[in-house]
Amino acid sequence: MKFQDMQYTRISQEELEKGFEDLIRRQKEAKSGQEQFEIHREYYRFYGHIETMFVLCSIRHSVDTTDEFYEKENDYCDELAPILEKYNTLYGETLYDSPYRAELEKKIGAVAFKNIELRRRAFDEKLIPLMQEENQLSTRYDKLIATAKIPFEGEIYNLSLMRKFTVSPDREVRKAAQKAISDWFLSVTEEIDEIYDRMVKNRTEQARILGFENYIPLGYLRMQRNSYGREEMENFRRQVKESFVPFVGEIQEKRRQRLGLDHLYGYDNGVFFPEGNPEPKGTPEEILAGGQAMYHELSPETAEFFDFMMENELFDVLGRKTKEAGGYMTYLYDYQSPFIFANFNGTSSDIDVITHECGHAFQGYLTRTDEIREHADLTMETAEIHSMSMEYFTYGWMKRFFGEDADRYLTMHLEDSIIFIPYGCMVDEFQHLVYAKPEMTPAQRKETWKKLEETYRPWLDYGDDPFFSNGGYWQRQGHIFDSPFYYIDYVLASVSAMQYKLWMDRDYRDAWEHYLKLCRFSAGDFYGGILKEGGIRSPFQDGCIEAVTEGLRAIAR
Ligand SMILES: [Zn+2]
Repeated sequence: MKFQDMQYTRISQEELEKGFEDLIRRQKEAKSGQEQFEIHREYYRFYGHIETMFVLCSIRHSVDTTDEFYEKENDYCDELAPILEKYNTLYGETLYDSPYRAELEKKIGAVAFKNIELRRRAFDEKLIPLMQEENQLSTRYDKLIATAKIPFEGEIYNLSLMRKFTVSPDREVRKAAQKAISDWFLSVTEEIDEIYDRMVKNRTEQARILGFENYIPLGYLRMQRNSYGREEMENFRRQVKESFVPFVGEIQEKRRQRLGLDHLYGYDNGVFFPEGNPEPKGTPEEILAGGQAMYHELSPETAEFFDFMMENELFDVLGRKTKEAGGYMTYLYDYQSPFIFANFNGTSSDIDVITHECGHAFQGYLTRTDEIREHADLTMETAEIHSMSMEYFTYGWMKRFFGEDADRYLTMHLEDSIIFIPYGCMVDEFQHLVYAKPEMTPAQRKETWKKLEETYRPWLDYGDDPFFSNGGYWQRQGHIFDSPFYYIDYVLASVSAMQYKLWMDRDYRDAWEHYLKLCRFSAGDFYGGILKEGGIRSPFQDGCIEAVTEGLRAIAR
């Protein structure tokens, strides 16, 4: 079905509660594992439909944040979400406590039961008012960022549309663009501080109600970290500090020389070549058509997938002033359809939509007929492997989008991916420090960020910029606000995707076949088992990061 024909109807609280109460009662009365599984199939459809309505509403809100109907509906869904969470948890308990659990576990998997346990530990009805406030704070931050009005060269831009100027080959332009962004952030930084302070205190209070010392363990539960914890994460960040931080220093020095500059400042961060970053050629329509041709050549599976996306109009990618910033892929269960949202802005990030977001969507498409919904319950360190690996698997087609600039694009993409690794770890460590000391003042939080920059990005220099040089950068990083402890998942996934990159350089088809296996496997096992299925090493394993660094060092010259 075409996206525009998909019908949104509000889910009333009453039908949600009635539906769940009925399912819960029948699960408790069921006389066999088989009967329970049949009821569970009904649950798949019931829950899937509610989720579809939430997703549909959220998409329609994000494609036009000024649409009053969907703004109201989106607020309504925010209110309803914790109630859905409550019933979902109660429902999960009927399976968890079932006398036929062993039989059910064979059908829906051990991971599903572990996740029920995690959800149980992460939830209490007493949290609902706080969770509702937490959602409102997120919405407030998102709206503030999305509706940013930044005056620049006589026009008004939002943050997403400003990106073009921050990567300008003309140093004066990007310097001025950064100043405009910095000025805007300075004008709202107190409000952002206030929002974040309330978020941190809110989350801490939720954690304490559940008996935790602070939000960190609850954050881990909410990220569904079902097979590793804080120690593994710390060990991972330590490996990154040892291997990647010096490696990124080398990359930065190379970039400085290439740009012909005496010194790199913060406003030079986004630029990789003196003549400017390679940009895709052609209109958005041509880029989409290029994507279609590329996926036709790559494999029969990707060809079918992309045709499906185009036929059903499952892309909304043109940049408009009233759209939410950023890009995402989401999934509409009722229609077995992935959906891709983005803001094309004429830079190479448009191509990320065709590679990265399509990687997510491809995995969703590949597994759309898997009946066991729990398999789709992917944690992000896995989901991002699907997308980030696709960025590498499509390297060979970049001529189609960049013409003679293709090689320069690939250099930029690889360097950018490498530079990201320590940054992502820093975002993670920042959040650990913040939630370990919720009483920190906004000024202390900025101070903390600044110190971390010295460890993870020692080459960075914001000069006398009053916002960025004083530890303000994190206020741009939406994940810190909306999805605590999420960000490290990009880093874990990135080093996994880098393993596929090194693998495909040796044997493309072999790497692709393993990637397909990984995608089809979904969340069929815990993290370690998934990686094994895909034939790659766990980033927590000692030596993994060093090996990836060495492999990349050999090709990033
Ligand atoms: Zn992604």
